[in-house]
Amino acid sequence: MSVTNDLLNTVLRHAGQEVSRKEFLNLAGRGLAASVAAGTLAACQEKTGAANAAATTPTTGTPAAQVDANTVYAAPGGPQVPSSEAVSPPAKVPAAADKPIELEAWKSDVDPKSPPTPTPLPPDQRVGYALVGLGHLTLEELLPAFGACKKSKPVALVSGSPEKLAKVAKQYGIKPTSCYSYADYDKLKDNPEVQAIYIVLPNSMHAEYVLRGAKTGKHILCEKPMANSVRECELMIAACKEAKVKLMIAYRIQYEPYNRLVRDMVRGEKFGKVKYIQAQNSQSSANPDHWRHKKALAGGGALPDIGLYCLNTSRFLLGTEPTEVFGYMHSTPGNPLFKEVEEMMSWQMRFPNGVLVSAITHYDTHDSRFYRVNAERGWLHLDNGYAYRGQQLTTSHAEGPAKMQNQLTIGANNQFAAEMDHFSECILENKPPHTPGEEGLQDQRIMEAIYQSAREGRPVKLPPVSGTDVFRGPEPKLG
Ligand code: NAD
Repeated sequence: MSVTNDLLNTVLRHAGQEVSRKEFLNLAGRGLAASVAAGTLAACQEKTGAANAAATTPTTGTPAAQVDANTVYAAPGGPQVPSSEAVSPPAKVPAAADKPIELEAWKSDVDPKSPPTPTPLPPDQRVGYALVGLGHLTLEELLPAFGACKKSKPVALVSGSPEKLAKVAKQYGIKPTSCYSYADYDKLKDNPEVQAIYIVLPNSMHAEYVLRGAKTGKHILCEKPMANSVRECELMIAACKEAKVKLMIAYRIQYEPYNRLVRDMVRGEKFGKVKYIQAQNSQSSANPDHWRHKKALAGGGALPDIGLYCLNTSRFLLGTEPTEVFGYMHSTPGNPLFKEVEEMMSWQMRFPNGVLVSAITHYDTHDSRFYRVNAERGWLHLDNGYAYRGQQLTTSHAEGPAKMQNQLTIGANNQFAAEMDHFSECILENKPPHTPGEEGLQDQRIMEAIYQSAREGRPVKLPPVSGTDVFRGPEPKLG
């Protein structure tokens, strides 16, 4: 403020007091006034030739203690900018690593609150991950997501391509000695930097790499779908139990704030009891040679790859388990993409209390990923609900004569970082994961029933499950 005043006084002196100081500040605002004043001052000095030697001390990097608040810095070419006294406003700095620094508050309660400042662990205390498979998901999402992680870091890579290994290792600072071929995967056992293995391979390989991984004694995070059969899922769970390592399935949606908010609104009966959910996850593929179109590698088509999100998220929102399913499947005859796996699956799931979920997934339509939860007195619509980012939540309810449609905006997160940090927390604090192997096994059971129903053209009953969140571990601490 003193800089503004000093500059202003100087400008007014040079300008012959053509405007009053109050008028000037009202016109420009104080911040703008300071820079306008600096510019005007420079122009005045140039015009009069009366350079003010005391106002030009154009060095940067002066320690705060030596800075004179009246100093004016000159930019190349002559214009001058004001200096401010460098200070640290009052802040609370708790000693505990997991307690955030609280900065001086300045926002009113009229606007949404900012989230707490992050509390990242020092790098040497974070859980070290070995990423297995350097394909689209690993390179495009997971490795970049470590930049947003607070408890996780990449320390090893497993790939069949030495060229990719060398390049990616350089990009992310991973030691050449921590790069492994698939044949050498089991040697992760001897790498003390690795505490967790993240399996990002084609679906059919998940079972083998979890079984081999468990033998290394490392904890395992495995991509969805968990495997290609109920039997494989059971073996994976048993192997991890026997080896006393944790197993988590990477259901990122369950760590995503918008989906979690919808879940809380559903469970809290924000608009009354839920009656039915419509869910859709569709995209378009073009390469019949890709593993996603080979039954032996993928296990199925659209259903286990992307339809799984409609299934798993509905179970997550409701907390209960379906009692019966009815599927309808289609593949366009002659399309090489769908010689082995389904192009489309449409299915219904009956949940307790008459709640119905109606879902569709497609491999040959434009990208579309949303769901709508229909309740007694309103609905919740999550556009891009299953996408990596860009969730848009709209709700509708009646107020008197008006139909209110509201768009709710909350802080987004990096779903992959949140999911990995949750698993790291489970490892650091020896807790069970929120989405353990049992959660993946239940989805596999339901998918097998949907396929059976579609093949046989009749509804298929599922073993009854009573209770809520039966297959999930404790709530994750997010944020
Ligand atoms: P991708 O084809 O891009 O990558 C697969 C990787 O596996 C490649 O690096 C490939 O070299 C390696 N691989 C090893 N043996 C292979 C074989 N026999 N055939 C083909 N590839 C082989 O696949 P992706 O999209 O990264 O998917 C990998 C896993 O991640 C799948 O299980 C998929 O369902 C899952 N995924 C999850 C999400 C999510 O949002 N959670 C998103 C995409 C993929």
